[in-house]
Amino acid sequence: VRIVDACGSTNAEMMREARAGGPGGQVLAAEVQWEGRGRLGRSWHSGLCNALTFSLLWRTESPASALSGLSLAAGVAIVRALRRHAVNAQLKWPNDIVYEERKLGGVLIEVQGAGHESCAAVIGVGINTRLGAETRRRIDQAATDLTEAGGNIRTRSDWLAAILIEIAAVLDRFARAGFAPLQREWDGYHAHAGRPVELTLPNGERMRGIAAGVDEAGRLLLATGSSTRAVMSGDVSLRASA
Ligand code: ATP
Repeated sequence: VRIVDACGSTNAEMMREARAGGPGGQVLAAEVQWEGRGRLGRSWHSGLCNALTFSLLWRTESPASALSGLSLAAGVAIVRALRRHAVNAQLKWPNDIVYEERKLGGVLIEVQGAGHESCAAVIGVGINTRLGAETRRRIDQAATDLTEAGGNIRTRSDWLAAILIEIAAVLDRFARAGFAPLQREWDGYHAHAGRPVELTLPNGERMRGIAAGVDEAGRLLLATGSSTRAVMSGDVSLRASA
């Protein structure tokens, strides 16, 4: 584990490391990150020492196509760690950690190495520990932090250790059997279980339905009238509907 004072994006650094052939199992954490990324080119905001921002380089024998459920698996690991330390966190499909409907953190997976051979995945995690007013102003949705959520760990290093322990266990499992053995646990943490949601697809099309959980590959099961559709995360955004 390497902790640096400042970094543009820990994911970008670890992707460089992946391309350069660096070993798996490395973690890079930053006290402050000024170009944190979300999905779809969005930004992840954080200020000096007010969040846990780190990325883990994971090398796997599996091809990139087998990693579709990896961000959900990482979410399971994070929720396990947070719940162990008094934060009753939940998961919003596909990649958010939430607490009482407010966003606490997120996971961003980037993969290096396409095709059928083994590949490297960079698992990026951002979790708010104590949001400052300035960071809050920049976030355009309801957000919260581990302090507000009642977490009983005080230092970011201890949060990092607690989360890495769970991620290591989940990755062992994922390497052997993929997302399937974690599916039921994910469903148990699902913030929108049985609730009406609206999905926005990459072409702007909207789909409404009831969020019925996820399947063995981590696709969202959306019940619409008489049928249930399995939706790949890809570039899809989910919001609760009224
Ligand atoms: P989706 O449902 O499509 O995943 P998302 O809003 O969760 O949407 P992400 O790409 O996961 O999108 O995360 C980026 C978004 O998260 C930003 O557009 C912003 O709304 C929000 N955000 C950015 N920084 C923070 C933060 N520190 N805490 C909470 N939310 C944040």
